[in-house]
Amino acid sequence: GSRRPRNVLILMSDTGGGHRASAEAIRDAFLLQFGDQYRVFVKDLWKEHAGWPLNDMERSYKFMVKHGHLWKVAFHGTSPRWVHRSYLATMAAFYAKKVEAGLRKYKPDIIISVHPLMQHIPLWVLKWQGLLKRVVFITVITDLNTCHPTWFHKSVTRCYCPSSEVSKKALLDGLDTSQVRVFGLPIRPSFCQAILNKDELRKELEIDSHLPAVLLMGGGDGMGPVEETAKALGEVLFDKECQRPKGQIVVICGRNQVLKSNLDSIEWRVPTKIRGFEIQIEKWMGACDCIITKAGPGTIAEALIRGLPIILNNFIPGQETGNVPYVVDNGAGVFSKSPDETASLVSRWFEPDNDELKKLSENALKLAQPNAVFEIVKDIHGLVIQQHPCLTRFSISISH
Ligand code: UDP
Repeated sequence: GSRRPRNVLILMSDTGGGHRASAEAIRDAFLLQFGDQYRVFVKDLWKEHAGWPLNDMERSYKFMVKHGHLWKVAFHGTSPRWVHRSYLATMAAFYAKKVEAGLRKYKPDIIISVHPLMQHIPLWVLKWQGLLKRVVFITVITDLNTCHPTWFHKSVTRCYCPSSEVSKKALLDGLDTSQVRVFGLPIRPSFCQAILNKDELRKELEIDSHLPAVLLMGGGDGMGPVEETAKALGEVLFDKECQRPKGQIVVICGRNQVLKSNLDSIEWRVPTKIRGFEIQIEKWMGACDCIITKAGPGTIAEALIRGLPIILNNFIPGQETGNVPYVVDNGAGVFSKSPDETASLVSRWFEPDNDELKKLSENALKLAQPNAVFEIVKDIHGLVIQQHPCLTRFSISISH
């Protein structure tokens, strides 16, 4: 009946930390906003319900990203519509049965895809089963600027774009304005709602309370020139004349164990914290004064919310390329591939009378969209009510 909770199935894949982070952000926002009116399942559907090569996607992705030129070929090689269409058509035929089983298991009223390769196949299956009209299908794009055309599918109910650059591409690709909304990239609610005090955070995280701090990250997998940059920072942030540090370093290595143990074995001349995978990134960001990272959309959006000036030192060719001008052209940061150049820039920022950090930080806050995830789930709720008006009565009756 109309009183049962609605099932939401979020389709993601663990290719990098970003997709999972967005998926979990949406799940948590549903819970905070609507409590038990929704039951949300976050699933790597391909991993659970399909065989090779889809469940191998994560491994091939990591391999290709490590060998940048291969990823470039894969990204651009599959761009022409006829190529990915026929490729995915073959895949869809092969996996339809397994996708159907997934849909049977979770009985979704709403499907949300946060992955560029998860529009076509589920939509095809829904169509074959005659369910296209009964299920609200949502795409939440997690690339800030350049994005792969497989993100855009004309049969979706809504396509949420993180920036107006992306929404322009969606419209050019044939989506209708009624399908497209721009609220920003969904970020974990713990991030958006946090009221954080830098001094208290530094006490809690046991980092020096006076020295300016630079945060160094490389996404969930600790990618990019993190080690070289940390070493260069360790040199330039030590004031040789006065024989004392003029700044401190926090490195978050994510799941990159090798990186962490390499950095752990170094004797640092300035206060340095080397951390593995952290679950409360908002605290580390809140305790630092600027960030150096690869151009991951999740990390960028989070840093903007915390008003952190950003140095981008790397990007995955293809989907992350456009994140660079997004940050740089909006005055929230700079791009530099060179660890030495990056380190001397930080050193300059940390000079006592330098006011560059303040300006960049103001621009970062202007770009930040901390409420995006709540606006997205509220908009989805609106769609559900349109489709099942009885739910409105339900929600009114429980609120009194
Ligand atoms: N992240 C985290 N703990 C870590 C390292 C990263 O929670 O130790 C999060 C980070 O805050 C961000 C996501 O992982 O939300 C990384 O996403 P991004 O899009 O920046 O890069 P990806 O890892 O997907 O390439």
